This record gives sequence, C-alpha cells and structure tokens, in this order.
Amino acid sequence: MATQSKTNPNPTDTKSQLSEALQQYWGYDKFRPLQLDAMQAVLSDRDSLVVFPTGGGKSLCFQAPAVCRDGLGVVVSPLISLMKDQVDALQACGIKAEFLNSSLSRVEEERILNAVRAHELQLLYVAPERLLTDRTKQLLTGANINFFAIDEAHCVSQWGHDFRPEYRGLKILKQLYPAASVHAYTATATEQVRHDIATQLGLVDPAILVGSMDRPNLNYQIRRRQKGLDQLVDVINKHKTESGIVYCISRKDVEKYSAALNGLGFSSLPYHAGMSQEDRIRHQDAFLREDVDIIVATVAFGMGIDKSNVRYVIHASMPKSLEAYQQESGRAGRDGLDSECWMFFNGGDFVTWKRMLDQSEASTGKDAALTALNSISQFCQGIQCRHVALAKHFGEDLKSDSCGACDVCLDDLEQVEDPLTLGQKIVSCVFRVDQRFGADYVSQVLTGSSDKRILQNQHDKVSTYGLLSSESKRDVRTWIEQLTGQDYLAKSGEYNVLTISEKGRELLRGESIPRLTQPSVALPAGGSKSTASWEGVDQALFNVLRNARSIEAKKRSVPAYVVFSDASLRDMARRRPSTLEGLRMINGVGKQKLADYGEQFLGLITEHCQSNELSVDVKPSVTTSNDATASKAPSASALAAFPHFEAGLSIEEVAKETGRALSTTKGYLSEYIRHKKVTDATRWVDPEIVFQVTSAIQSVGVGPLKPVYVALDEQVNYDAIRIVMTCMQNEVESAD
Ligand code: ADP
Ligand code: ZN
Repeated sequence: MATQSKTNPNPTDTKSQLSEALQQYWGYDKFRPLQLDAMQAVLSDRDSLVVFPTGGGKSLCFQAPAVCRDGLGVVVSPLISLMKDQVDALQACGIKAEFLNSSLSRVEEERILNAVRAHELQLLYVAPERLLTDRTKQLLTGANINFFAIDEAHCVSQWGHDFRPEYRGLKILKQLYPAASVHAYTATATEQVRHDIATQLGLVDPAILVGSMDRPNLNYQIRRRQKGLDQLVDVINKHKTESGIVYCISRKDVEKYSAALNGLGFSSLPYHAGMSQEDRIRHQDAFLREDVDIIVATVAFGMGIDKSNVRYVIHASMPKSLEAYQQESGRAGRDGLDSECWMFFNGGDFVTWKRMLDQSEASTGKDAALTALNSISQFCQGIQCRHVALAKHFGEDLKSDSCGACDVCLDDLEQVEDPLTLGQKIVSCVFRVDQRFGADYVSQVLTGSSDKRILQNQHDKVSTYGLLSSESKRDVRTWIEQLTGQDYLAKSGEYNVLTISEKGRELLRGESIPRLTQPSVALPAGGSKSTASWEGVDQALFNVLRNARSIEAKKRSVPAYVVFSDASLRDMARRRPSTLEGLRMINGVGKQKLADYGEQFLGLITEHCQSNELSVDVKPSVTTSNDATASKAPSASALAAFPHFEAGLSIEEVAKETGRALSTTKGYLSEYIRHKKVTDATRWVDPEIVFQVTSAIQSVGVGPLKPVYVALDEQVNYDAIRIVMTCMQNEVESAD
C-alpha cells in the first residue's frame, strides 16, 4: 500500500487509508470504539497505552497501521501459541507476518531472518526474552522498524495479576530504537497498573486510550447450584454444536464433569495442570479445531486462547475473584456476537477456596485474596445489574437501567413479596445491635439463634430478635449482602461491621425500596435473551458452512476461526450471496479469503439454496447487522414499509409499492411482525397452513426453522414458517 511519511500524517488521510486497509485485508467496514484513535497513534509515531476489554479489537490497532506504511512492526507477545494463531490469521488475510520463537526449525528460522533482512515483512512477532538477545538486536538494528507493539502489557507490572520478569527488560527498547514508537495493549489494568506500564516501558507522552470494559454481548446468568450436572446440561443443550468452556475448581471435578457429559452424548475433553503437557496441547488443539465442542477445565486453561467463537462459558463453581471471573467469562464472544456466561455457585465454594488459601504456602497476598473472595461472593448474591456491578468493581461507572443481558435485569430472579418490610426488619436489627456486628451475627439475631455470644450480649432481648425466625440463616445472610450491594448497609473495619448508610435511613423511613430476591428458589437455566444475531440465519446452511470450515482448517492446520469467524458464516447463511462480489460484501471476507475460499463457499451456498428453495442475495437490513447492539430498532426503510403492511397489502404489493426486492420486503415483514407484536399469521399465510405449521412448531419447539420444515415433509416454505413462528412468539410473550 501507499507509503506513509514519518512526519505529521494528516488524520483525514490516515483515516481513509486505514478504512481501506480494514476493508481490503479483513473485510470489515467500520472501526470499533477508539480503534481509529489507537491506529492513528501508531501511524503518527506517538507512544500509546491502549486498554480495551477482551474482544475489543486490540490486535487490529497495530496490525492495520502496519499494512499502511513501509517498514516493520514488531509485536512482543508472551505466548507461543497465541503468536502462531495470530500469524496464521494474518497470513490468511494476505498480510506478510511471521514469528520468531523456540518452536521454529532451523530452516524456518533462517527463512524468516532473511525476510527481515530483506525488508519483506510487515509484522514480526517475537517473545520478550528472544527480543533482547544480542542476535535479535543485531537483526533488528537494520530492519527499518516503525514501532513495537507490546501485547498483554500488564505483564510488565508486578501489581498486575500476571507479572513476567522478562517484560521488565523492554524498557530498553526506547533507547535501542529511538526512532520507533512503543505501544502497549492490555485488557486488564487498574489505574495503578496503567501508570506502572507507562513508567516501566518508558513511554513518552503516550496517548492513553481506555475503552469501556463492559462487554454488552455477554449475557451473565448466575444461579445457586442445585444439581450441578443438570444445570450444566440445560445450558449446553441450548448450544448444541457450538463451542463452550466449562470451568471447575478442582481437577477431580474436571474429570468428573467431562466424563459425565460424554456419557450423555456430548463431546468434551478435560484440561488441567495435572495432565501431561502433550495431552493438554492435544486437547486444546482439538477444541480450537472444533473436533470437540466443549472443554472442561480448571483455570489452567485459557491464557493465550483467542478462539473468537466461544459461545458460552460456564463456571460450574464460583471462581476465586472477580478478576478471574472477568477473564474467564471474557473468553466468550470475542467476535462480538451474543454469548452466555453462566455461573452456578453455592456457599461451599467459598469454603473450598478459603481452605485452599489457608493451606497455601504463600505468606503474602492472603489478605488480598480473602478480600477478593469476599467481593465475588457478594457479587454472586447481589442483585445489581451484573454488567454494572462488574464495571463498578473495575472503577467504571456504567450507566444502565436495564442491560437486557443479565439475570438481574431480565428479571429471572424472583422477588420477595414485600421487600420494604423485609429490608426494614434487617436494617433495624443492625440498628438494635448498635452497628457493632457483622452480617453473620445479625442474621443469627434475626433468626433467633441461641448462640452463646448473643445471649451474653443480651441481644435476645432486642425487639428484632427472632423477627425472621421462619427464614433460614443463609437466606437472611443473602439479603444482607443484597442490601449491602445496593448501599443500604455498609461494611467497615477489619471485622466487616455492618453500619447503616444514608440510603438505609431512607429505607427505615419507607422512602426507598430495595430489591430482595427469593434466594433459595430453584431457577431454571432458561430465560435469556438473544436470538438477535441469529436473525434471518438459515441454520442448516450455517452448519454446512461450518463443516466446510472445519475441513479447511484441518487441511491447513489452523484453528477454525482463522478460516472464517462465526460472524462471517452467519452473515453468509443469512445473506446467501450468489456471486463472488456478493460474498465479498460479507463481514470478514477480505480479498485474500475471497481468493482462497470464495469459489468453494459460494458453491456450497448456491447448492444449499437451490435444493432448499431459499432466496439468495438477501439485502442487508437492520437484522443482518453484525453490530449486536444495534439489532433492536427497525431500519428507516423497514419503517417506510410498515404503513403498507398495516393497510393489509400483500408482500408482493408492498414490494412493488416500495420498489424493493421481494426478499428484502420479506425481511421488512419480519421486522413489522416483531415490532408491532402481530399475533395473527393468517394475514399473510393461508389459515390451513398456519394450522399445520402451528402444530408442527408445538411438537418440535420454537427455535431453528429447519426442524419445522422437515416435520412438514418440506412442503411448506420457510417464509411461511418464519411468519407463523414469529407470531407465535409474540403471542407467548404477550401472555406472560
Ligand atoms: P482483543 O485482542 O482486544 O481481545 P482481537 O483483536 O482478538 O481482540 O479482536 C477480537 C475479534 O474482533 C477478532 O476476531 C477481530 O478480527 C474482530 N475485530 C476487530 N476489530 C474489528 C472491526 N473493526 N470490525 C469487525 N471485527 C473486528
Ligand atoms: Zn443487567
């Protein structure tokens, strides 16, 4: 591409240059938030520190600038597996990238060194220890380096959770290569760690770009564990043939759950630190290549896995901290598509972690670990929006009344009947014991315990003693946590003494009503949103394409998502292009991938559409947007068609009236039905057919259209099925 001069590039020029690169190499049509700023920092040789959440698109921030100018970008990455995957993915997009690490044969290494010397590469990935050897320094001195990108930059800070001493040496880069800028990227950095990164790397006046850490495409669902396996199976059943991770605390649980799942016909493999290195690599690869759908693992699994299409992460037990929870659950949905994060916890998990902590040799950090354990425990029992609560923990004030993607906001939690009175009872008990005791003690007083301490303190004489004697102590504890989480109560001092806040006094006066849930009610694993990103996707075609992807990935020994992401396959199965130009318009299809896989995938799409009489070249409408957050409101053009539907025109007539293709109009109709909550399908479909389709849906269930189609002996077209199913869903929703 065009050469970029080293001095003051014009931001307008660089923007169009970067957009073009995004389109040409990756097939993406827009920047994610702050990506453009981060890329421009690289192009203008200004040091930068970029903090985006997992899946926020950090890699592109240095990859795109690297293809926009002559010279080399050097990427420092701590994990060999990550390096190979990233380089595979770049090469698949037609970018000249290589890596240097101990896994290379001598011949390969020599080839790469020569390429560096000949200025043939755009990106070179190097492990930190390798970068600072004399040999590499010599190699890089003449290599025309534009910038260094430091991935996982929190490893440089000992305040971070993953300190790596070899990262400390990177400070010398600024001295060794004064002409090159240095850019640090991380997903997890508190204020303190951020500061430390900038200092440790010697960044000069860095551009600091901190994105929102919230992951709106993740649906957090937290439940008490009842029958662990049944709950897991409920979740996994919703994600058949999709990739997922199940996290357990112990190796024993890993083995147990993996075997149990396989016994039930799922395909899973275990992964933990007690296995041989060889087995671990084998199982990890099987997961990446999609030979198995599920990996059951301890926390040992995941570092360096950037598989983008993990559709769900299940914590079979409570993790040890919110930091760990965020990291592990964050492995879901890196591609930005809706994904689910389930956690099944119970009180025993706290005890297990505490015991491990007590038994651990480490003499330092135990207090911090205990605080972390308390925080996550409170988070689990809390009933503040999970997105808001997580963001708050990481110092971000997220404004959201209802995220639509967590158990709390979706109201999957059953409320107590009279939260005001219940809350008042609890807070006044805190008052009666003079705000001098912790949650455990207060719940004992409320449930009327005859514990020695209570009798000694004469707290069996206070008016609130035994006021909640019909409730379990555990439930009362949970409510206290919920009141604390909503700031009615505060915990202070070494012993977490409960005190009453200003808001708590409002509660006593009846001016503020808390949210308190029925904690011991068993909740089904159902109840979560989001079929949005499946909207319009022909599931059967998606599966066909997925198989083809898997075969290609094996042939080339790369992870499946390197061939195409889930987002791309869904878009193909939704828009069903009939030409190479059409395929090129699909999100994630750049020039190189079109050349490599275009004909093949196009052939599969055409064949499938012909044999299933599916419409092709469906125009992108709002429902085909890749942007998960923008999927709700109807598009302007769809809205323009609504009055015609309202007036009772047929699909053909509306198409004529609006000058749109029939297939597009059908999309508008879907939007209309959903948006207006229409329940009567007979306006578009023959009543006899409606009756048949309704019975078929009742027997196979609401979900993908294909099973209904098959149940009807393939006699009723997909459009009719889709209309009837949408109307049925509206009816169900209006009933409850
Ligand atoms: P991070 O390193 O921040 O965790 P990645 O760089 O791995 O995130 O990006 C996550 C996924 O999002 C990748 O599949 C990447 O190709 C994709 N992606 C990044 N930027 C964009 C964009 N502007 N448009 C569409 N997809 C993007
Ligand atoms: Zn929420």
